[in-house]
This record gives sequence, C-alpha cells and structure tokens, in this order.
Amino acid sequence: MSCDLIALAAAGVQGLSPYQPGKPVEELERDLGIRNIIKLASNENPLGPSPVALQAARTALADVTRYPDGSGYRLKRKLAGRLGVDESGITLGNGSNDLLEFIARVWLGPGTECIFSAHAFAVYPLVTQAAGARAVVVPAKDWGHDLAAMADAVTDATRVIFIANPNNPTGTWLKETEVRDFLDRIPQRVVVVLDEAYFEYGATEAGYPNGIEFLADYPNLIVTRTFSKAWGLAGLRVGYGISSAAIADLLNRVRQPFNVNSAALAAAEAVLDDTEYLQRSIDVNQSGLAQLADACTQHELNWIPSLGNFLAIDFGREAMPLYEALLREGLIVRPVANYAMPNFLRVSVGLPEENSRFIEALGKVLAA
Ligand SMILES: *Cc1c(COP(=O)(O)O)cnc(C)c1O
Repeated sequence: MSCDLIALAAAGVQGLSPYQPGKPVEELERDLGIRNIIKLASNENPLGPSPVALQAARTALADVTRYPDGSGYRLKRKLAGRLGVDESGITLGNGSNDLLEFIARVWLGPGTECIFSAHAFAVYPLVTQAAGARAVVVPAKDWGHDLAAMADAVTDATRVIFIANPNNPTGTWLKETEVRDFLDRIPQRVVVVLDEAYFEYGATEAGYPNGIEFLADYPNLIVTRTFSKAWGLAGLRVGYGISSAAIADLLNRVRQPFNVNSAALAAAEAVLDDTEYLQRSIDVNQSGLAQLADACTQHELNWIPSLGNFLAIDFGREAMPLYEALLREGLIVRPVANYAMPNFLRVSVGLPEENSRFIEALGKVLAA
C-alpha cells in the first residue's frame, strides 16, 4: 500500500495492531507436521455444540436465500423472557464483540477518554484507539480491577468505562457490593459497560453479581453477554447487550442492518432451551479448573483464581519459551505478554482428557 494511504488513515488506525487470536490447530499442523493437537487457547467450549443448536442452525440454512430477521425479533423476545427484561433494552451483536464496537462508535472519538483496567480484555484498547479516543489504563490490584482507582480516573472527558467480570485473561472477579459501590461513584453521563462474557460460569459463585439487577438503579449501565462461551456457539457469533431502551436505541443506530446471521439467530434461540448442555458446560469447567489448579500445586506454580473457563498460570519467569515448548508437544495455550503478563500463560479448560494431556506436556517441558 502506498505510504500516503497509511498517513491518510484515521489517526487511531495508523498505530493500531490487530487483535491476535489463539493459534489455529491447522496452522500448528502445517508448521510442525504433527497431529493430535489440543487447543486450549481461545476459551472455547470443549463439549462441541449442543445438538439442539446444531439442528436449529441446519434447519435455518434451508432459507439462506433470504436475509436474516434484522430485528432478531424471536431471539430478543426469548432472551427478554428468560432474563426478565424488556425487549426494547436488548441489542443483538455479531458476538458481544460487536456491542463493544457499537459502544465505541456511539460515545468515543477524539477528545474523549475511555477507562479500563490493566490486564483487561484486549478489545477495549482496540476499539478505543480505533475511535481516536484516549485510553486511560488504570493499574490493577492483585491482577484484578481496582474499582476505586478507576472511579478516581473519571474526568470531564470520560465517556465509557469497560469492566469485564470475570476478566479475561486474569479470571479475576468483582463482588456485588464492590460493583454497586463503584456505580454509585460514577456520574450518569459516563457509560459503564459490564462485560459478562463468562456470566454463566461466574454465576455459580456466591456474591458474584448479575449485572442485570443493577440496570434499574443505573441508567448509564450496559451489560454484555455472549453465546460464545458457556453456550458453545463461538463460531456462529452471537452476543447481546442489555440496557435501557434509550441506550439500546443509540446502539441500534450504528448496528449493521443484518449483523447476526440466520443460522446464528436460530441456534442461539434453540440453545436457550438446552439447559442440560449449559449445566454440563459449567460442571466440566469446574472440575477442569480444579484439575488444572491441582497440577499447578504439584509443580509449585502460582495461578490466579478464576471464575472463567481458563486459568492464568504464573511461571515466575518469561513464559514464551514454555509456550513454544508446549507447541512442540502439540499443546496450544495462550501467551499473554501483550496483556503485560509476560510470566503467565492462559490455559483454557478442556475436557478431562485434554487437561490431562496439557498437564502431562507441562510436566515434560518444566523438567526439560
Ligand atoms: C470472549 C470474550 C468476549 C466476546 O466474545 P464474543 O465471541 O465476541 O461474544 C467479550 N469479552 C470478554 C472478556 C471475552 O473474554
């Protein structure tokens, strides 16, 4: 590309580095010529899709000559019923990532500020910078959000605050009382985004808040959730925001008319009835987290207690060589140096046998 076009790109885009996803299995197969690779790198549901969701998606494919329902009427109505909220406050996204983009588009731009924590989800700095806004990164406390410091960071230029509960890649979480005290301190002109991508896993923990319950008291709040994690539909891309109707109206102004495809709409609607699948996701995750934590104890490694479907493991030294050694053993995990956590690897919870393969490979590379 000619240099002029780079120079002419929007200011925020010029210096932007694209999001780095976990290494795909096929890529490692090509790189190393090995088989039986296990990927525990993208917080994907290890169970495979719910058969109920799969059947609904297949049925929807018969109608793909038609555009999807741009309003997502059926999915929104079902979600509203399940969540006990009004449909007018639900905004559907192509993954909940889409919601983060809408929020940036609506409120962020040059001259504005967006607050988030150190070690927070990588998409927050991305959307902030792309919008040309200033990122205010607040140092973490015990790897988690320091809400008091985040509230202190609010200025007249603050428009948005992103909070992931639990946070990815740390797995740290905030209690109900902490979030409420924080919301009390934030002026209502500032939009607070409570990113609950791992809500279904977190909800098993006493004191972990349901963000929806704050909505009545805080009209500046947006809660985001997704079908990508516990519901097992990451590849279909469906997420949603829950907010006041006034906020949803603004978000919908920048939403592409058909942002969620018809197979995704059908699968998401159907999977909400497969509560057995959800429970299995939660159970497999809890036992898997315990399995990984046990292995850490055995190897005298520290880890950050996690309410997500992943564990951030502290190797006490630069972790990149261990990441590469694990790759050679056919194990893909996630380096998190780009989150200012160079001594950590993030390991997604797999099936029991996948976790065992990781633990075995870990023993091998630590001994080497
Ligand atoms: C995975 C994740 C998301 C979004 O995923 P989508 O697939 O776009 O719904 C959002 N926030 C956090 C913190 C995540 O880890």
